[in-house]
Amino acid sequence: MLKEQNYWLTTVQMPSPPTQALPPSADVAVIGAGFTGLSAALSLARRGAKVVVVETETVGWGASSRNGGMVLTGLKLGVNKLISTYGIELTRRMYAASIDTVNVVERIIREEKIICDFERCGHLEVACKPAHFDDYARQVEVIAREFSHQLRVVPRDQLRSEIGSDIYYGGMVDEISAGLNPARYVGGLGAAALGAGAQISERTRVLNIQREQRDGAPGFRLNTSRGATWARHVLVATSGYTGAATPALRRKIIPIGSFIITTEVLPDTLARELSPRKRQIYDSKNFIYYYRVTPDNRMLFGGRAAFFPETKTTVRRSAEILRRGMIEVYPQLKNVKIEHVWGGTLDFCFDIMPHAGEMDGIYFALGYAGHGVAMATYQGQKMAEWIADGKTDNPFAEIPFPGAPLGLYTGKPWFLPFAGAYYKVLDWFS
Ligand SMILES: Cc1cc2nc3c(=O)[nH]c(=O)nc-3n(C[C@H](O)[C@H](O)[C@H](O)COP(=O)(O)OP(=O)(O)OC[C@H]3O[C@@H](n4cnc5c(N)ncnc54)[C@H](O)[C@@H]3O)c2cc1C
Repeated sequence: MLKEQNYWLTTVQMPSPPTQALPPSADVAVIGAGFTGLSAALSLARRGAKVVVVETETVGWGASSRNGGMVLTGLKLGVNKLISTYGIELTRRMYAASIDTVNVVERIIREEKIICDFERCGHLEVACKPAHFDDYARQVEVIAREFSHQLRVVPRDQLRSEIGSDIYYGGMVDEISAGLNPARYVGGLGAAALGAGAQISERTRVLNIQREQRDGAPGFRLNTSRGATWARHVLVATSGYTGAATPALRRKIIPIGSFIITTEVLPDTLARELSPRKRQIYDSKNFIYYYRVTPDNRMLFGGRAAFFPETKTTVRRSAEILRRGMIEVYPQLKNVKIEHVWGGTLDFCFDIMPHAGEMDGIYFALGYAGHGVAMATYQGQKMAEWIADGKTDNPFAEIPFPGAPLGLYTGKPWFLPFAGAYYKVLDWFS
């Protein structure tokens, strides 16, 4: 029986923060209880700051519990594009940071004793066209030469050692990446933030933010669905769910739906055949598929089955679209039952880059473009450092943050059907 439900949430007991009134004031108010917000809250609370996390729903309700659990190195954009846009020095720092993001996740999991099936199993990118495979060889060479990081190309005739599928033209492996159970991880981050002294106010939506001085100190009043609070600093960590409370940021973010199915539990031999090294796998298309075997041997298969964010209709429709995609990759799964389907919202910026910074005195970090498990955790730590120490070394805070071309965007992505069609066509030709 197919359930329209996030499989990961069936594996975890989320923390339930005590229901209490918002504090009259705090050093830092964090909006959003996902990886970004909770990682920042944990770090700030550990430094002795009084922190309140305000969340419309519950801990991890957003993309942080709904994702594939792939803890990835690298950025969404390829290295050649990064170098041509930002130059070699800044790209070097961004690439090094992307590798460090995985270490940051591992360190927090170890320090906070979060049980979330973290495993350094590596990731595998697979080429849908011969030209994509040729590009892997060029990327591996540039990454080794410029960033001293070793990736490995896997030719087509050796690909069976990596994946039980014959439809690809080769692959590229990074052994540094990892996999985890994202709901357990974000739940663990929430528990750790609470343990460190942060307050988490669930079911509290921030409606708007106003500048307001208190006792001569500059700060912000946050009007919420459960009353007001005041904070010296505000960090916006709302990702693809960024809304009317922060209109300037909303205009910079395109919310895009991504959807996932999981199968029934597979026999060990079949699971090993599909993914002999338990890699986190994604393909080289624009309309990407990403997939992996879960710790309990289900195939988890995700993609942009619809471009619009999750609704009952887009989720239901995605189940069949993704099942067809999965069988194209793995004909072995033709008669396997699909047990769960769900969706979530990704946050894309117009330049497909993560961004962090300060806008009108309010801090933010977002724009992870489907690479957020590790990067959001890292940005949370970096933003905490920035707020607490007044400075940080964060290359993603140094790049320009573009808005929509001609400013023709208010935060409602009317162009998504056209963009979806455009990328499908692009996948035919590139
Ligand atoms: C289906 C799917 C698969 C993905 N797979 C991967 C993957 O395998 N690997 C990877 O690296 N990344 C993946 N991602 C991306 C990754 O999950 C996100 O980048 C990451 O979780 C973002 O974390 P966050 O804390 O910034 O935002 P979120 O976890 O989305 O949290 C934002 C929170 O802000 C809250 N909020 C919004 N507005 C307000 C308000 N006004 N007041 C109070 N609260 C508010 C929301 O309720 C939400 O809980 C995937 C995403 C999706 C949707």
